[in-house]
Amino acid sequence: MGIKGFQGTSLLDFPGRIASLVFWGGCNLTCPFCHNPALVLEPEAYPNLDADDLLADLAERKSFIDGVVISGGEPTLGRDLIPFLEVVKALGLEVKLDSNGLAPQVLSELFCKELVDYLAIDLKTLPRRYPELHAGPVAYRQLLETVQLCREASVELEYRTTCVPGWVDEGVIAELGELIQDAPLWALQQYHPEHALCEEAREVVAYPAEKIRTFADIAGRYAQRVVVRGL
Ligand code: SF4
Repeated sequence: MGIKGFQGTSLLDFPGRIASLVFWGGCNLTCPFCHNPALVLEPEAYPNLDADDLLADLAERKSFIDGVVISGGEPTLGRDLIPFLEVVKALGLEVKLDSNGLAPQVLSELFCKELVDYLAIDLKTLPRRYPELHAGPVAYRQLLETVQLCREASVELEYRTTCVPGWVDEGVIAELGELIQDAPLWALQQYHPEHALCEEAREVVAYPAEKIRTFADIAGRYAQRVVVRGL
């Protein structure tokens, strides 16, 4: 665990903001289609970045960035996440957090301390299939708790689903839609298999664009707004 990567400036990862990106290593899933396998499988192969150095860097940049994106891996596993975000917020920067949603207790603390402005939660497939995403036990019911928590949270919220064949289809979109009914934003993303964690997943042929648009039509029955990315 720990901070493994930093990118100074991005226009793409925090909607409407210019942001720096910070990556935490380690994850409690090993999704076969994971796009960032090095951070998941061998985080110890990368040295931890010094949090104080990083915060000093962010302080220098704060006149030309709006916020910081916290991604991974799964950042909610990092014990140093909350103190790190306390300093980021004290700098006057906004925070976007990318999470798989399996740690509602951490998210609850982040909400209580007002340390997150924008939360992006991945919905990878049906919650009951999450145990297929990892060799060890997966507390997938915690995802349901997170969805409930997010209904009451006063943060900008986005659900994201990467449309991986074999994990996402029309029925999955409809069932996930019922789970997140009335969510403000649901982003459906095209799958790009090149860097997937498992060889099998690298051989999967991505859905054609029309199929993703069909999924978006279905998703639109449930979420207030649907966007498609990566086509
Ligand atoms: S896709 Fe996300 S949740 Fe899945 S292994 Fe990769 S970082 Fe973890």
